[in-house]
Amino acid sequence: MISSQKQLIMLIDWAIFNWVKFLDVHSPQQRSFNMSRIQGKDTKPEMLLRKWLWSRGYRYRLHRKDIPGKPDIIFPGRKKVIFVHGCFWHKHACKYFKWPKTNFEFWEKKIKGNVSRDNRNYQLLTENNWQYLVVWECETKSRAPEKLFDKIEKFLLS
Ligand SMILES: [Zn+2]
Repeated sequence: MISSQKQLIMLIDWAIFNWVKFLDVHSPQQRSFNMSRIQGKDTKPEMLLRKWLWSRGYRYRLHRKDIPGKPDIIFPGRKKVIFVHGCFWHKHACKYFKWPKTNFEFWEKKIKGNVSRDNRNYQLLTENNWQYLVVWECETKSRAPEKLFDKIEKFLLS
């Protein structure tokens, strides 16, 4: 069965990828932080944000593929988008980003690729008259989320 073989290979790749990541991160704190964030949709910080937006009466769309960078949260009427970026994957200058000590070349290529793709997308958005806001995962983990909510509200109302 070719398709199930393919699925098995994909599954093994995924497992190896995450295991490498697991071994690479430094502190147990960072390890659990990174493990909580397998790059993709509907991650926890994003869900929290969406819940808050909804409770404040903001209505949005999700992951529209026709917008540069496939932003996480889209406000079509306002022509505004929000990215919820994982600090490790997108190289945030915060305590959650550290270059892994092992497999450095792998991580360097991967993360630098992400950052340059981000920058390209920001440029494309601006050229197409979209405004964007980056929300970092560490901001969503704060014990005082008011600061983040302020930042988002200012962005949406500006
Ligand atoms: Zn961060």
